[in-house]
Amino acid sequence: MQTHEISKRFTDHFTSNGHTPVPSASLILDDPNLLFVNAGMVQFKPFFLGEEPPPYPRATSVQKCVRTGDIDEVGKTTRHNTFFQMAGNFSFGDYFKEGAIEHAWKLVTSSQSEGGYGFDPERIWVTVYKTDDEAIELWRKVAGLPDERIQRRGGKDNYWDMGVPGPGGPCSEIYFDRGPSFGREGGPEADEDRYLEIWNLVFMQDERGELSPKEDHPPIGVLPAKNIDTGMGIERVAFLLQDVENVYETDLVRPVITKAEEMSGHRYGADPVDDVRFRVIADHARSGVMLIGDGVTPGNEARGYVLRRLLRRIVRSVRLLGVNEPVLGEFAKVVRDTMGPAYPELVEQFDRIDGVVRQEEDTFLQTLSSGSKIFDLAAAETKQSGSSVLPGDQAFQLHDTYGFPIDLTLEMASEQGLKVDEEGFRRLMTEQRQRSKQDAASRKVGHADGGAYRSILDNHGKTDFLGYQDLTTESR
Ligand code: ATP
Ligand code: MG
Ligand code: MG
Ligand code: MG
Repeated sequence: MQTHEISKRFTDHFTSNGHTPVPSASLILDDPNLLFVNAGMVQFKPFFLGEEPPPYPRATSVQKCVRTGDIDEVGKTTRHNTFFQMAGNFSFGDYFKEGAIEHAWKLVTSSQSEGGYGFDPERIWVTVYKTDDEAIELWRKVAGLPDERIQRRGGKDNYWDMGVPGPGGPCSEIYFDRGPSFGREGGPEADEDRYLEIWNLVFMQDERGELSPKEDHPPIGVLPAKNIDTGMGIERVAFLLQDVENVYETDLVRPVITKAEEMSGHRYGADPVDDVRFRVIADHARSGVMLIGDGVTPGNEARGYVLRRLLRRIVRSVRLLGVNEPVLGEFAKVVRDTMGPAYPELVEQFDRIDGVVRQEEDTFLQTLSSGSKIFDLAAAETKQSGSSVLPGDQAFQLHDTYGFPIDLTLEMASEQGLKVDEEGFRRLMTEQRQRSKQDAASRKVGHADGGAYRSILDNHGKTDFLGYQDLTTESR
């Protein structure tokens, strides 16, 4: 089943059950706590918080999401994209646990000819929050699930809140058992690769006080209206229904891998190290294009920096596959063709998107070429000194001053028979990270007291007010 069809079935199921279909919000919402929209519920926050009356009691959406926190998992696990689509159904004081469980169970297990996804009910496992006996009872009653396939989990996995004080509640998650060849027995608690999480149901019922963080303190009360917030990963369902190995091989992501194979002459599936690169390229190309589509441009701050990092990782990965020509324009085209049917703005705005990626790639290729000169010099010096290890501070300088990624340094060093003092490099990186964390922390505090403006002023000088504008457009 194609990804677009999976989205359509979700929307159809919930609209025919009284939910108002709401279009995806932009990846960029004006929320000071959030770099990018990372869940379907974000655009509905004011309704959940009681700040605005919901215009409908039930809603459904397929939300564009970016999770930068998952970037290091990409290509290595089977299930983490930086950009993915989260389908959700939402109840604002309308149906609660039983309704949410009924809907999810029906859509997941009813046959494909009846409009469902047709998962084998025998291979479904669920988790519930450790004290949520009510949810256990409902899973037994509604789905007939045996106790062996219902696992209790703690707050880290199965309790959700939006920061305290505020609403919170237990979650129940739905997993599909891919089978014994994919890992250990024992349910999601034992192996999250074999048991793939597809859907999270959040039962928003508690009021959490200032001093009631997860686990340690019981909630201070119950919410006047109980809400439902769910999120199902469209790419994960596609991965299972398309009988492929991971989310990167699904119909909307895999074509970029194919393009990269054509360009590089390397074959996906032939070498595990190359394969990670292929998956990173395909994932990041899609995220990059979706972000630019929503107005992000590469830069050195916040959102712009995330985009820059994604695009540069593609260029770097593709070089490690042996391609030296510009590639981003080509990849962007593939993404436009796969994602365009669901997101027509990508087609309408393609010239702009194409311009942004090409310019960023140009700049980065220049960086790479000047970095390469510095690298050659450092390599020659190392050899002259009779050593076979490129010093960590050289690798760090290449990274820090020339934006030269460490794996490229490692690869080029090994081509010349050299090693790199990686430990020294990482120590310097950690020190730098700590410094920027401290900076970020002081910026955070500063945000409330005007310190953020202070640091902009410090960076840009008093007279140049335009500098401030540039900086904010970049980080918006
Ligand atoms: P995981 O434990 O696999 O990292 P999660 O518990 O962080 O997932 P939730 O926050 O519960 O995920 O999000 C709801 C659903 O969105 C998940 O059940 C999953 O189907 C999907 N999802 C979450 N993160 C990703 C991702 N990085 N790529 C693709 N789908 C995702
Ligand atoms: Mg996660
Ligand atoms: Mg999880
Ligand atoms: Mg989850």
